[in-house]
Amino acid sequence: MAAVGNQQLQLPVFSKKELKVYLKRLDLVHLPVAGNKYFKLKYNLEKAQKEGYHTLLTFGGSYSNHILATAQAGKKAGMQTIGLIRGDELAEIWEDNPTLKAASEAGMRLIFLSRAEYRNKTDRSFIENLEKDLGKFYLLPEGGTNRLAVLGCKEILTPDDSKFEYICCPLGTGGTLAGLVNSSEEGQSVLGFASLKGHNFQEDIRKFTSGENWKMVADYHFGGYARISEQLISFINNFHKDTGIPLDPVYTGKMMYGLTDLAERDYFPRGTSILAIHTGGLQGIAGMNILLKKKNLPLLGL
Ligand SMILES: *Cc1c(COP(=O)(O)O)cnc(C)c1O
Repeated sequence: MAAVGNQQLQLPVFSKKELKVYLKRLDLVHLPVAGNKYFKLKYNLEKAQKEGYHTLLTFGGSYSNHILATAQAGKKAGMQTIGLIRGDELAEIWEDNPTLKAASEAGMRLIFLSRAEYRNKTDRSFIENLEKDLGKFYLLPEGGTNRLAVLGCKEILTPDDSKFEYICCPLGTGGTLAGLVNSSEEGQSVLGFASLKGHNFQEDIRKFTSGENWKMVADYHFGGYARISEQLISFINNFHKDTGIPLDPVYTGKMMYGLTDLAERDYFPRGTSILAIHTGGLQGIAGMNILLKKKNLPLLGL
């Protein structure tokens, strides 16, 4: 794997507080499946191919990075892909959704489920019935987190990254954080910025790591998963202007907002070095802008 550069962030708040903050630009590598999803899919794809599967099947919402990443990774590997999408109302209008359109263009077969049906996504009998209808497939869970995904995420950090005192990442299912914890040194602290509200990640994360050197930061979800405010939009747009780096509104925007706020509040001692992971997700901006436009809110720049 080609090494990814860590880019230093030159923001006034970081120099004022004497913090050295770097961003690992996973958004720039392994295109088209940029970001953490490349790492989460890597060993799953290898296993699926080794075991002779021809089809990947997974679940997701209509703006899911995981859905599009699965479609693109499957295409690259010469495999069929099937996406079971939450919300049967989308069956008529999915072509207006940039994520689903791109997934379909990458060859994914989209099947729309009602919200009630979708809730069966981890039921054994539901999956067995799917197999009767659709044939044999390699199943990736919603969000893509399983043991092999966490194993892949161990490769996000390189030996050189052991010099950082803090590692920061967004939390969706916690798979990425678990991989980072598994490859961190004991003296490093891993901070996960929750992208959803009121979810206790302890149990999810403990399934995949016994490491104790991590913490969840719960104060920057902006009201819940994919919720977004004018304050967050203007933070993301200013960050882009100041650094040249785009952030997505669901994960990396909230993490960076939280990280700069913690810096402002003197959470980190002077001299601390911090590595934040840009986990990608930029494909979601187009879809979010359609929603923002409908609500007459300012748009995210690209
Ligand atoms: C999926 C995703 C995450 C969350 O990763 P988990 O392993 O589910 O915690 C974070 N950032 C981006 C951009 C993502 O697409």
